[in-house]
Amino acid sequence: MKILIATGNEHKFKEITDILPRRTQTGEDIEYVSLADVGGLKMPPEDGNTLQENARIKAVYAANETGLPAVSDDTGLEVEFLNGRPGVHTARYAGEYADAADNNRKLLNELEGLFLGKRAARFRTIACLAVPHGKTLSFEGVLDGFIGFGYRGENGFGYDPLFIVGGSRKTLAEMTETDKNAVSHRGKAFRKLGKYLEELTK
Ligand code: IMP
Repeated sequence: MKILIATGNEHKFKEITDILPRRTQTGEDIEYVSLADVGGLKMPPEDGNTLQENARIKAVYAANETGLPAVSDDTGLEVEFLNGRPGVHTARYAGEYADAADNNRKLLNELEGLFLGKRAARFRTIACLAVPHGKTLSFEGVLDGFIGFGYRGENGFGYDPLFIVGGSRKTLAEMTETDKNAVSHRGKAFRKLGKYLEELTK
């Protein structure tokens, strides 16, 4: 069985394929290929209104274009005090061309003066599996935590230096990659998808 992981981000491809199984319980091998392996398919814009829609748009497009079952994901940061924002706009929170530093600065400004109890947030990932011209299935992973008062840690990417993991004192950027995958939104969503793939029979 060959499955396309429809992301252009090599770091994500590795993170995802480290989690997913190499074989089904009935002994069939599962091979994962990247967008580069299928000739660098250009993905459609993420213009859905929800994470679910975006993950689905990308997985369906990739599956129908290549004829392979395809997996795509979308992640959002939902801050309680901001009524769930930035949510589906997480990547472009501070504007179309914003980078992680711009987004983090904007978030800190919006929460200025609030004590920790008012800074609750969660990361949510939707991983979607699409069969070419067929069904789609989605899996969700959530990580609860808080937005810290400043940057801590050197690892990870995006909002990791600001996100204090619930039940821990560490930000995601203070965790090793292995520890982050064990608790993270993406880790949870892809472990659910992995279990589904493992249980597939011919
Ligand atoms: P994407 O859907 O994976 O492209 O993620 C959307 C945006 O969410 C990215 O641009 C990142 O800024 C942020 N993001 C996604 N996953 C994480 C994470 O694990 N840690 C921190 N930020 C993340």
